[in-house]
Amino acid sequence: MIIAIDGPAASGKGTLSKRIAAELGLAHLDTGSLYRAVGVAVLRAGKDPADAAVAAQVARALRPEDGILADPELRSDEAAQAASKVAVVPEVRSALLDFQRTFAAVPPAGAPGAVLDGRDIGTVVCPDAAAKLFVTASVEVRAERRLKELRERGIPAIPSDVLEDMKARDARDSQRAVAPLKPADDAFVLDTSAMNPEQAFAAALAYIGSKTGLGPKR
Ligand code: C5P
Repeated sequence: MIIAIDGPAASGKGTLSKRIAAELGLAHLDTGSLYRAVGVAVLRAGKDPADAAVAAQVARALRPEDGILADPELRSDEAAQAASKVAVVPEVRSALLDFQRTFAAVPPAGAPGAVLDGRDIGTVVCPDAAAKLFVTASVEVRAERRLKELRERGIPAIPSDVLEDMKARDARDSQRAVAPLKPADDAFVLDTSAMNPEQAFAAALAYIGSKTGLGPKR
């Protein structure tokens, strides 16, 4: 049982995916953390994330099972921007594909299925997923949410910079040649611009239930 959840940065898909996985007793993989791990490793090596040869080499050497995905450094904005640069490189994407598909096919800890969230899960990684959600919101709403999150973490941020960074990442993610960000033809598009997290969760669960028959584990 595979559930694919895609969407742009700060759409709320990460929080939503975690909640859905917990509610339905499924494993969860945040695939963005794989690209972030590659981006951060390239930066730590003092190299440019836009250097395709370096990024590909780093991606092939990545061992996600070694705990790197839990590194707090992956959550920084620098890591996000680096991730979206390495993510345009086809060799980086293919190097990360096996890990994602294996996670989906054989979820850890004997879980009966998995929720994968990212940009291309419904279109490329798991095109046969039982349920596909595309979670989105307007770029202004997403920038506002991101700003709030940064402030809550005590990180000073300028609203116009956050909005510009968000637009730059959206453009890189949607305009790249390989696996661009877009809803699968059979995805359920959930626009959360006017929803609170509770409403988004309820709408997502109702859709997944209708496609899979899965309900809360109680
Ligand atoms: O989801 P998150 O914001 O952590 O992703 C960071 C970056 O990784 C994205 O902006 C995108 O460029 C890339 N990514 C991707 N494909 C995925 C997940 C993330 O290209 N499945």
